[in-house]
Amino acid sequence: MLPGLINAHSHAFQRTLRGRTEWREASTPENFWSWRTQMYRVAGALDPDGLRIAARLAFTEMVLAGITTVGEFHYLHRDRAGRPFTDPNEMGWQLRAAAEEVGIRLVLLRVAYRRGNHRAALEGPQRRFDSGEVDRFFEESQALASRSSSDLFRVGVAPHSVRALSAGDLAEVVRFGRARGWAIHMHLAEQPGEVSACLEEHGRRPAELCADLGILGPDFTAVHAIECLPHEVAELGKARANVCACPTTERNLGDRAVPAQGFLDAGATLSVGTDSQVQIDLLEDAREVELNLRLTLGQRMVLGPVRRYPGALAALLFDVASVGGSKSLGVSSGALVPGAAADFFTMDLADPSIAEADDDALLSSIVFGGSPRAVRDVAVRGRFVVRDGHHPITARAVAEFARLQDTLWS
Ligand SMILES: [Zn+2]
Repeated sequence: MLPGLINAHSHAFQRTLRGRTEWREASTPENFWSWRTQMYRVAGALDPDGLRIAARLAFTEMVLAGITTVGEFHYLHRDRAGRPFTDPNEMGWQLRAAAEEVGIRLVLLRVAYRRGNHRAALEGPQRRFDSGEVDRFFEESQALASRSSSDLFRVGVAPHSVRALSAGDLAEVVRFGRARGWAIHMHLAEQPGEVSACLEEHGRRPAELCADLGILGPDFTAVHAIECLPHEVAELGKARANVCACPTTERNLGDRAVPAQGFLDAGATLSVGTDSQVQIDLLEDAREVELNLRLTLGQRMVLGPVRRYPGALAALLFDVASVGGSKSLGVSSGALVPGAAADFFTMDLADPSIAEADDDALLSSIVFGGSPRAVRDVAVRGRFVVRDGHHPITARAVAEFARLQDTLWS
């Protein structure tokens, strides 16, 4: 029995892209930006039903893999024509409904998004992401939060990135969230192009800008903190900020590895997210935080201080996938301690992926080789949502998702 895994960064709708972007569209090299064009096509096509169906399948796959809390970074605010829905939180409610059906704990990180970049307004599918003037964004975020009476649903704020907001809006959104004790998440620096655009606009790199604006803190999570120089790593560490790595997505998109060792040494807290849902296996994300650095540096055992007992590195990586995520999302889950939520899962010790591991090797076997197939029972706030490896809505979720994919891709 293990504490439930915490998925700190998810875009549920991108589950529709799995397997659909693994081919070459042009003779020029494919990269993050060409993938984004493909992603925008789906982002432009989903209606509220489609979002709920995609999210329900993604959330089902998450609980089947031992994930009990998801932080959903939500920016599909408007309808397909870029107009606000009658209820501006229409799409947010669809995500909440999907989470309730599946039984997963949801932290809905409502994204503030105002511009393509400092030179370009929102255009095409991006017009769906428009969160409006900050005052309206605050009102609508508050409306989402005020209708929540359950600790299975919370709201946070997410200034999308230094690209999508002016410095003034960025600082205001953070002030708003911080005053309410909400989690604050932001895409920091996934690609070199984002850093050069930030330098052009502000004369500073993304983490430098955030430090100057005073927005770093223990309630702040930098997602994709990849293109960070050592002094930026130090700033995030000094602020005791959170850093969310999404290695299965980052390797798929040709981003680079998060400099996790630097962040840990500097005092930041690491967490992980399934992000684009190219895979939903949070232990794979956790192990990749270490393994990507092994490939980059040509050495083994990169993370953590010298600890001469088996399982020390596995314990560190398991914390990244559990308590690290709970700090990032501000939830009382991720550890089996008195007072915490009863979010936990069990693994079948006879599953071939972890079979015959003795006590010394068990946690390392789970973290470095455990398969989601070995997950048996999953409980969220003490209620079992998965029993014996099965979730009751799986067949229906899969069938409806298949119909959705037919309409999206035919
Ligand atoms: Zn993201």
